[in-house]
Amino acid sequence: MKANIYKGKRLLLKRRRRDAMADADAVDADDSGAQKRKEMADDEGEAAEGEKCCLISYAQLPDYLKDNEYILKYYRADWPLKQAFLSAFRWHNETLNIWTHLIGFFLFLGLTMVHLNGVPRVMDLLNNFTSSFAMAAVVNASDNNLDFFTETRTTRSSEIFDQVVDQNKKTITREAISSSGGAAARWPFFVFLGGSMFCLLSSSICHLLSCHSRRLSTLLLRVDYSGIAVMIVASFFPPIYYIFQCEPRWQFIYLAGITAFGLLTLSTILSPAFSAGGFRNLRVLLFLAMGFSGLFPAVHATVVNWSEPNRNVTLLYEAAMALSYLIGTLFYLIRVPERWKPGSFDLAGHSHQIFHVFVILGALAHYGATLIFLEWRDSVGCV
Ligand SMILES: [Zn+2]
Repeated sequence: MKANIYKGKRLLLKRRRRDAMADADAVDADDSGAQKRKEMADDEGEAAEGEKCCLISYAQLPDYLKDNEYILKYYRADWPLKQAFLSAFRWHNETLNIWTHLIGFFLFLGLTMVHLNGVPRVMDLLNNFTSSFAMAAVVNASDNNLDFFTETRTTRSSEIFDQVVDQNKKTITREAISSSGGAAARWPFFVFLGGSMFCLLSSSICHLLSCHSRRLSTLLLRVDYSGIAVMIVASFFPPIYYIFQCEPRWQFIYLAGITAFGLLTLSTILSPAFSAGGFRNLRVLLFLAMGFSGLFPAVHATVVNWSEPNRNVTLLYEAAMALSYLIGTLFYLIRVPERWKPGSFDLAGHSHQIFHVFVILGALAHYGATLIFLEWRDSVGCV
């Protein structure tokens, strides 16, 4: 009886152990299934992510990204923000659009830093140093010749010394006047540099992140167009401020006029009806009208300063600026060269990249003219 009970217990234990092992196997099986499902899901996720971040063709683009039918491939669409951001370092049809204006932004940032850190003051120091050096050299040279011209020693050396000291005094006096408020105000110059940086950076960000979503694309395009309007208005400030510094009435009329025009353009650009798309030509027309309104103060300034020796140089710089902007705009409008051979300029050489380069060249030409206006007003002042 006892033996039977014992045998029964052993069988029970054996069965329990078997059931437990079966359960464990089942759990293991479940675990490995889950793991497999997870791995598969991960694979699918990666595939989806990868698929999402693949470059696609114009035909596959969502409507909001369709802009240039002559660029056929290498588009990004609906990419996550992180991937869109990192795509600055990948090849696609916007890479050069991003970098042309980003490099332009850093260029103008560098110029701003240079002027903020007072490089002109370094130049003044160098001038002082070289003139002191020249003075010492002249005195030494005249002293060396004393063996032969002893009788004229005092007279000649003191004359030369007096001349150099006089020259130095003039320089110091001019600097003293400048530093005591005689120099022209710098803020219009920095308005131009700041406006240019805003335009170039917003354009670069727009090209980088517009592929994320329709909403962000609409927002960034508005910021991009606003940047162009801001840059045009900001470009007017240095020439008008410095040229008409001694005629505050005209200075105010022209600066208020272009600012009002800029605000009108901004309100048009930012209106919901305008951002619906299909306003490419109207947009360009508005920007061109803003730019060409500069002809009024330009003609006025040329007539008033007809005998000014710097006139031709500044006109040349400004003509180079206008030509650069016009050529760039022409490329933007006619979409050449990609129109001639669709698909051949997808990555490099298409019209928008050429337009960007001409925008930077135009801004640099205007920077050159602005430096001349600034130096001229520093030296002339108002009498
Ligand atoms: Zn652009």
